[in-house]
Amino acid sequence: MPTTPATLDRFLTPSHQALWADVDAFAQEEVLPLVERMESAPSRVDRKTARLMASRRWFGVTVPTAFGGMQAGHVAKTILIHRLARVSGAAAAILQASLIPVAALLHYGNDDQHAAVLPSVADGSLLMSIAVTEPDQGGHIGGMTTSAQWDGKAWVLSGTKAHVGNSHLAHQHVVVARTAAPGTRTSQAMTAFLVGADQKGVHVHRYASKLGLHGFSYGLITFDRVRIPPQNILGEVGQGFDIAQSSSILYGRPNLAAVSLGLHEAAVALTTQHVSDRPRYKGAVADLGVVRDRLGRMSARAIMARILAYHAVDMLDRGLPCDMELIAAKAIGHELAAEAGQDAMELHGANALTQEHPIERVWRDMQTTYAPAGTGEVQRIRLAQNLLHEHHHPSEETDHTQWSTRLAHLTRHARADPAPAL
Ligand SMILES: Cc1cc2nc3c(=O)[nH]c(=O)nc-3n(C[C@H](O)[C@H](O)[C@H](O)COP(=O)(O)OP(=O)(O)OC[C@H]3O[C@@H](n4cnc5c(N)ncnc54)[C@H](O)[C@@H]3O)c2cc1C
Repeated sequence: MPTTPATLDRFLTPSHQALWADVDAFAQEEVLPLVERMESAPSRVDRKTARLMASRRWFGVTVPTAFGGMQAGHVAKTILIHRLARVSGAAAAILQASLIPVAALLHYGNDDQHAAVLPSVADGSLLMSIAVTEPDQGGHIGGMTTSAQWDGKAWVLSGTKAHVGNSHLAHQHVVVARTAAPGTRTSQAMTAFLVGADQKGVHVHRYASKLGLHGFSYGLITFDRVRIPPQNILGEVGQGFDIAQSSSILYGRPNLAAVSLGLHEAAVALTTQHVSDRPRYKGAVADLGVVRDRLGRMSARAIMARILAYHAVDMLDRGLPCDMELIAAKAIGHELAAEAGQDAMELHGANALTQEHPIERVWRDMQTTYAPAGTGEVQRIRLAQNLLHEHHHPSEETDHTQWSTRLAHLTRHARADPAPAL
């Protein structure tokens, strides 16, 4: 019997259902026992969780089978991240962060790069990161100061990147740096490079603990005159902006929607349990009308978030234009989860404030899904621009076609067992 919710029947094939059961069992049996250890040492970077997922080959969920990957598509990717996040936001973050640079490599890498790197991604022996954000410029890619100059033999990369997901685990970084002269349009001013974590001049700073996702690392990396051979350019010189943006929209947004969804469902489940178990008068807190009203709203929000997250990636698998659905799923998915988180905290009362109750960890982890792959403001600006058929900086944009359309030939996932079309 499938354990998947009927809400998602339209999106899930029998192989998706089997994957769902598989990741649920893995999360319970292998990840849950590690959560306490991760929480007890917030500045320690957990390596075991990544190793366990690597042994399942999940880092290659969208890598073609020709390279040893699962070639399972975007709905399958969402299942992995969503179901892990129900048990551990950190485990889901480790997986999701490594898959965004995989998108960059899949979509822009050449045959030699694919042959050299993808088999190791698929078997889990090589973890990747993508380093775009900078300490001062934050999400403003056009303002980045990390740069690479050609010295006649190699590109020489210098600068500092912040909040790099899997900063301390990755063996290879996709680094986006400025390569053009001042005055060049932002859309052509950056280049993406494949940089080995063990290369001379790559310095990963000591990890400082953060509010949530204990066990996951999203830290600071400095590149000090790192020499990069021309064959390690991803795509073309000047394509870095496209690479950062497309991988963030096609993989980053849905990945974060899946993390939010898992945390959201965890908050609903924990709260339902808590108010049902907590005695009040002749029954339980759950018997009170006002509490049921809040639970009802929590249930409705969770159903909406589930549909949003899966509908968007189903469209991506089908090769349909869906940038706006992916962006909305990320933005609204976080908002719905945050609202549920607030209800959950309040319905746990003072108990929510102690680390003995898992809701405290779930709430902290929920705070970490606002900024990555674009903050709420950035998502809403893009949605509004699309609605208004205009761009805020028309001079910086050349092609207004959605990434899901431009890269559909690479992202479309032919299903072995198609679900009925919507
Ligand atoms: C868990 C986690 C994982 C991450 N992983 C990665 C990663 O793997 N690689 C990577 O490169 N980065 C990563 N990031 C960084 C993430 O991409 C940035 O946090 C994000 O781009 C925003 O940058 P910032 O946090 O510095 O905020 P800022 O860009 O400084 O924004 C601050 C505030 O100003 C608002 N704002 C900024 N610009 C505008 C605007 N134009 N209009 C309206 N409002 C605006 C923002 O919405 C926000 O509220 C990660 C972050 C987190 C928390």
